[in-house]
Amino acid sequence: MADTQARSKPLPEADEASRPFYDGALAGRLMLMRCDDCGTVRLPSRRHCDRCLSTETTWVQASGRGSVRTFAVMHRVYHPGFADEVPYNIAVVELAEGPRIVSNLVGVSNADIRLGMPVEVEWERHNDVALPKFRPLTSDR
Ligand SMILES: [Zn+2]
Repeated sequence: MADTQARSKPLPEADEASRPFYDGALAGRLMLMRCDDCGTVRLPSRRHCDRCLSTETTWVQASGRGSVRTFAVMHRVYHPGFADEVPYNIAVVELAEGPRIVSNLVGVSNADIRLGMPVEVEWERHNDVALPKFRPLTSDR
């Protein structure tokens, strides 16, 4: 039904360059590209290394841990798929391996989000795609 579709959230579609990332996500692994020549890790996927321009790359599994670099809380409905979730957060997580990823924080109220908060990835599964979300690490882990 068109109305139902309009109220669904948009989901990413893997292309050739990003397929290893999304395949890893479905298997519960956060995958990043690591330059074979200088070791720089990058995300999103792209052909050349940011540091040395090498095109020699290996996909590696990241730790899934990082910290909150910055965030915003959205109060307006910019897409009908998010109407039931406002206010919701959007966060930039700086991964332990270096790259930053835009995601959402789960398991924490928007009022309790803090810069530098340590977080760990968890996966939000849809039919054929899994999205990385980040949950604050508790001190007993
Ligand atoms: Zn490099």
